[in-house]
Amino acid sequence: MMGWKLVKMAFEMTRILCGLTGISLLFLGACVESTVPQEPVSKPAVSAALPERTAAKLFVRVVDVVEPVAERECRARTKGMNCDYKIVVDDRPGQPVNAAQTLDKDGRPIIIFTLAMIKDVRNADELAFVMGHEAAHHIAGHLERQQRNASTGALVFAGLAALAGADAQTLQNATDIGAQVGARTYSKDYELEADILGTVISKKAGYDPVKGAAFFSRIPDPGDRFLGTHPPNAQRIEVVRKTAAAL
Ligand SMILES: [Zn+2]
Repeated sequence: MMGWKLVKMAFEMTRILCGLTGISLLFLGACVESTVPQEPVSKPAVSAALPERTAAKLFVRVVDVVEPVAERECRARTKGMNCDYKIVVDDRPGQPVNAAQTLDKDGRPIIIFTLAMIKDVRNADELAFVMGHEAAHHIAGHLERQQRNASTGALVFAGLAALAGADAQTLQNATDIGAQVGARTYSKDYELEADILGTVISKKAGYDPVKGAAFFSRIPDPGDRFLGTHPPNAQRIEVVRKTAAAL
């Protein structure tokens, strides 16, 4: 079996995709937006968080089971891509509940969980689903695609500003704004894509993705705002339910 390594946060990471919660990992600088939590629509009854020792054991077990499945799925669905996932724990204190996917400098896929994320899950299904979701971002090539979208957005906005006779400063601003709009417009689709493939991975690993996606009922719902980077939680749960039913 391909091994996974539990290592401390690696600071050579330069690129990162926004994680599940829409909370920016500011020190890495590349998450598009910090989502302002809205009024929760409804607070479903949820079980309490697990004791720390239980959560830690659960994490180790889930990583052990899901990593080989994610790796197999990655090899089956891609050509020449590095599928040897490395699982990393961001143990800096005070980090929000989040998980994210990035690449190290050699192109190896990294999945990062914050300690708060590991502590927040209610069962193995949630952890497996989150891991499947992050592994799916890599398989679908979202990091590269998001960066391409960002440059296209920047190009279009800069072009429009130039047409309107903008000066250098305005043009620079338009370029920045364009990059953001490009990246944001597409990332909702990417999140749903990752939810679908994440459902496949976690189910193949023997976990219940529908139970796992209940995680979304606890995080702030980004709603359906135009520039929101994450789809509404209800939409995500629906996508998971449909995908799981079809498997
Ligand atoms: Zn995601």
